[in-house]
Amino acid sequence: MKIYVDFDDCLCETARSFSELAVEMFGKHVPYEKIRYFELKKSFELDDEHLDLFMAAGHRPEVLLSYEETPGASETLREWIAVGHDVSIITGRPFSSYEPSRLWLDRHGLENVKMYCLNKYGRDGFIKKNDFSLELDDYYKMTFDYAVEDSPKAFKFFDHLPDLKVLVFDRPWNRECEFPNGNYRRCLDWKSIRDIVASESEALNP
Ligand SMILES: [Mg+2]
Repeated sequence: MKIYVDFDDCLCETARSFSELAVEMFGKHVPYEKIRYFELKKSFELDDEHLDLFMAAGHRPEVLLSYEETPGASETLREWIAVGHDVSIITGRPFSSYEPSRLWLDRHGLENVKMYCLNKYGRDGFIKKNDFSLELDDYYKMTFDYAVEDSPKAFKFFDHLPDLKVLVFDRPWNRECEFPNGNYRRCLDWKSIRDIVASESEALNP
């Protein structure tokens, strides 16, 4: 199976970290459960200037490295790779975050997993040629059987794959969104994601 896995709020608890950062930086208390929008600007009620400061602070290497792992994430990915699934982490983090992101993966026993930065949210002001930044054209040449994603803003990147099964990691900001089609399923944790992929790949290759 070819599997797309998003990074933030799938592999790690990014929003919880931003929630703590908002208290430290601006004295704003928006607990994780109250983050109703994927756009941090809206959820934390920030103007553009404060949003820039907030994003810069949240992408400092030491902050990226400190993100807590979402329980079961690295174990599931290691198991997938061990049984021969082709796993690609496709993150919307800016290319400048590649190194600490890669280090986070390595420190969590995911040295063997591929990771690419895809400009999902228009946050990169420039495109730099390297082997981890994925141009949209190249992304659209890739195919996947499964995707693990939390952001409704990223669902458009799956429109070209009508058979793709999208496992939506349950988060407060995706609870009210409408799924584009019946191939989308809400998953509460990595155990349910692991079980779905295991049982369906077993049914295909008994
Ligand atoms: Mg995400």
